[in-house]
Amino acid sequence: MSRVSSTESNMKIVALVVAAGRGARMGGEIPKQYQNLADTPVLRRTLENLIKIPVISNVCVVIHPDDMDLYTTAAEGLPILPPVIGGAERQDSVLAGLTAISAQNAPDYVLIHDAARPLVVADVVHRIIEALNDGASGAIPALPVADTLKAVSPDKTITHTVDRTHLWRAQTPQGFVFADIYQAHTAATQTVTDDISLLEKSGYSVKIVQGDARLSKLTEPADFQDLERYLRPQSMDIRTGFGLDVHRFEPGNAVILAGVSIPFHKTLRGHSDADVALHALTDALLGSISAGDIGDHFPPSEPKWRGVESAVFLKHAADLIHETGGYITQVDLTIICEAPKIGPHRHAMRNTIAQILNIDVDRVSVKATTTERLGFTGREEGIAAQAIATVSLPQHSKLQESDLC
Ligand code: MG
Repeated sequence: MSRVSSTESNMKIVALVVAAGRGARMGGEIPKQYQNLADTPVLRRTLENLIKIPVISNVCVVIHPDDMDLYTTAAEGLPILPPVIGGAERQDSVLAGLTAISAQNAPDYVLIHDAARPLVVADVVHRIIEALNDGASGAIPALPVADTLKAVSPDKTITHTVDRTHLWRAQTPQGFVFADIYQAHTAATQTVTDDISLLEKSGYSVKIVQGDARLSKLTEPADFQDLERYLRPQSMDIRTGFGLDVHRFEPGNAVILAGVSIPFHKTLRGHSDADVALHALTDALLGSISAGDIGDHFPPSEPKWRGVESAVFLKHAADLIHETGGYITQVDLTIICEAPKIGPHRHAMRNTIAQILNIDVDRVSVKATTTERLGFTGREEGIAAQAIATVSLPQHSKLQESDLC
């Protein structure tokens, strides 16, 4: 095809949004591209942002055959092409989309984009188009790799440090001269994870342009929380909750504190694993949404909670916060005892809590104190723990205690 040398009105650029994936790492009942991000389905945000960019002539979405109803709701009223049903692999879905686009007056360029990258940045699209105008067959946004990269053997032993000087992280939208990418997809005999690799293999000229952190892919629940923070930093309802718990010592050989088992000449008595620290933290989270206390949710009278790991309680409280559309900003825990020593385990405790709550470890504080040998903790009769949780809830949240319990 002839190259068009400008983005004048005769240039036809179609955005092809790939939304046929299942998003297994995200969890939830519906695929992540249909889950709400700050009250709007991810896919709808993606489409609205693409439509806003004037240089894009039209938008077409490839969907999973099971998702027609979800798609119809998410895309309702948007001025875009009819959806195309995708295939088993991403590559099949892209080919189905390209074929559909080609059948109705093929465009000059196509921008292939992941549905799960909702914050499409116009400047990035312009850089891609400029690179295509300059003669590249494909151009993709990418960011330099900031972290140190380690190559590891299957048993996770580090074999060497990878030189990251020439390494970039690929994002989407990935822009292509339509005829070149369609030809490469039609001729493909191997499965590839992204479209640009097809062109690389076929010897076409492919370039990177500067990407943008806002184009990060939504992969895990924490990514949703990050984008929520970005999309409505001013509009959250900040709340705090407090929790306190005490458990008595009895003879034993270990205590479990904040999910970490510490060898000790006593143990803590309790119905569950007696993790006094996670109990205080669970109560703090429940308190932040006025959802009662741990005993309301997990009555000690019910045998099914006997010996259960307290991570279950904490996770439940976090789930209740997430169900409101909120997220946990910070937790701060203080363990009060003369012994065992907490310091050597603090790092493991913070990591364990961060994992259970699915938040960054720098949002988890674990502290310890003694009571100068005063009182029941000073006499080493038991351990106490206090916790404060700070959470951000959507302003519009109509929290009902009855919904939460
Ligand atoms: Mg307790």
